[in-house]
Amino acid sequence: MQKSTQKPNFIPKIYCNLFGHDYEVSKKVTYYVKEYTCRHCQKQLTTNSNGHLIELTPKFKEINAILERIHEKRNVRSREKMVVSSIY
Ligand SMILES: [Zn+2]
Repeated sequence: MQKSTQKPNFIPKIYCNLFGHDYEVSKKVTYYVKEYTCRHCQKQLTTNSNGHLIELTPKFKEINAILERIHEKRNVRSREKMVVSSIY
């Protein structure tokens, strides 16, 4: 009767209290750090430096944004290096 793709219409928080949160990766910050969002109540989690899941507070959002920027820069730099080494 219930389709797995259909989201329940009743108050999401009650659903999570009964069945637990249903997290999915909402953002990949680095290879190790990801952000997760609950599909029902939109609660967000992130991976901290120890690899544990913690609540995504505004402070951690900020940290992740910085991490993401560093990570992107590193990727660009390694790509440049590859181009250079393919020339020489
Ligand atoms: Zn939830």
